Amino acid sequence: MNKGNLFIVSGPSGTGKGTICNEFLKFDDVYLSVSVTTRDKRNDEVEGVTYIYDSVDGFRSRIDNDMMLEWAQYGDNFYGTPKDIVQQKLNAGINVILEIEVQGALKVKEKMPEAVMVFILPPSMEILRQRLINRGREEKEEIDKRIDIAMGELKKAELYDFIIVNDELSESVKSLRKIIDDRNKMMNFVNNLIEEYKNN
Ligand code: 5GP
Repeated sequence: MNKGNLFIVSGPSGTGKGTICNEFLKFDDVYLSVSVTTRDKRNDEVEGVTYIYDSVDGFRSRIDNDMMLEWAQYGDNFYGTPKDIVQQKLNAGINVILEIEVQGALKVKEKMPEAVMVFILPPSMEILRQRLINRGREEKEEIDKRIDIAMGELKKAELYDFIIVNDELSESVKSLRKIIDDRNKMMNFVNNLIEEYKNN
């Protein structure tokens, strides 16, 4: 059986990358990684599904016990990817999506250079600000902070393999699905060639 492929999805807060990734919960061949965070749970979030919520001390002990594939500070909080489950899923032939910010994405790419990197962009900065205001999750100060972080993140977009401009949700989902399918097809082909060589 072929191993699953790893996909990293990043992009400024408010681009809708979470919404795009959540659409992949319905596909059996894809596992959407559940991160650990020290930030407070929002009302619409589900423990263990949206995130695993932990204290700063708990988070540090996960790092000390080598349980994290990567972690990063974003704003005032820590976010990180549990290591074992990602490896288990890949070994079981399941594709894995990590929806993580840029610093963490680059750390994963260093450790796992085969990861496919996808950057989600808003159609415009004005639309991004409007989306952050409309979703009403953050106070103005937090929104300004997220827009500032977005400016830094945009400068890293060139390090990614694919860019999706998230104008229409369904189109963006189709684009990401195609990136995943194309990668799987390519790797299946390569693995078949290797098998063919071994058998001759
Ligand atoms: P939010 O607070 O809006 O849920 O997430 C803030 C940022 O943290 C987003 O850019 C999100 O992609 C990123 N993030 C979520 N989980 C992780 C993770 O495990 N590692 C890293 N490096 N970033 C994450």
